Amino acid sequence: MPELPDLEVIKEFLQPRLVGQTIVEVEVLRPIIVRDLTREGLAAGVTGRSISAVRRRGKFLVLDLEQRPGHLVLNPMLAGRLHYEAAGKRRPEYAVAVLRLADGQELWYTDAKQMGKLYLTDDLSLVPGLAELGPDALDPELTLERFVERIRPYRGEIKGVLTRQPFVAGIGNAYSDEICWRARVYPFRKRTSLSAVEIEQVYTAMRAVLIEAIEVLRQRVGAEIHVEIRDFLAVHGKGGQACPRCGARISQLKGQDYYANFCRSCQPGTLIKQ
Ligand SMILES: [Zn+2]
Repeated sequence: MPELPDLEVIKEFLQPRLVGQTIVEVEVLRPIIVRDLTREGLAAGVTGRSISAVRRRGKFLVLDLEQRPGHLVLNPMLAGRLHYEAAGKRRPEYAVAVLRLADGQELWYTDAKQMGKLYLTDDLSLVPGLAELGPDALDPELTLERFVERIRPYRGEIKGVLTRQPFVAGIGNAYSDEICWRARVYPFRKRTSLSAVEIEQVYTAMRAVLIEAIEVLRQRVGAEIHVEIRDFLAVHGKGGQACPRCGARISQLKGQDYYANFCRSCQPGTLIKQ
């Protein structure tokens, strides 16, 4: 699932390539993934318009359209991917929509699991989940003080709290594992059981993990924006391997629809089932 660092780097790649480009043709291959909140039809609503900005809000990517306020909003969920390709290249069978640009390049949205959504809207507040987003996890105004204030109403397991988008936006399963590991906090501890010092460790880890990941991805992603790079992470996806900090074996726990990875030795704790 693309998270804040993945989408930030995709945004940085697309910005200079898309801004100012006119969309000359739109193909919708899987209409079920497309939500047209303008009722104009995606192709009719977008063809001939140019892109004025590429932005990221949490785990959403927003393309602003010129001529009148309008936005294409992408919520990639588990498996949504953007591809930036030269026209005429063979598309994967799970391609959802293709935007052909005036310079001959194409932007594809593909979704192997068909769980993501592509919205066309004149009003961003109509996009489910977007208006409810809390501050971005890297928002400079999200100080430790504000973080502590915002986390107060959330009483559940810290890993889960970190992925609540109305609390802070941008973190999902992979990076919540990384943040808990960096903060040396057992991911299933209740937020209410964490000391002030531990909350501060989580905050500091959140900033450091996300900033460092963006730096790594900037070097490695390039034009392959559809490839999700996770091999550099410390614990996520590394169940059974050695913890890079203490050498103990990294644990893997299966949740309802995800795997959580952590180190029992440097993130001690016990799972309390309720
Ligand atoms: Zn360890």
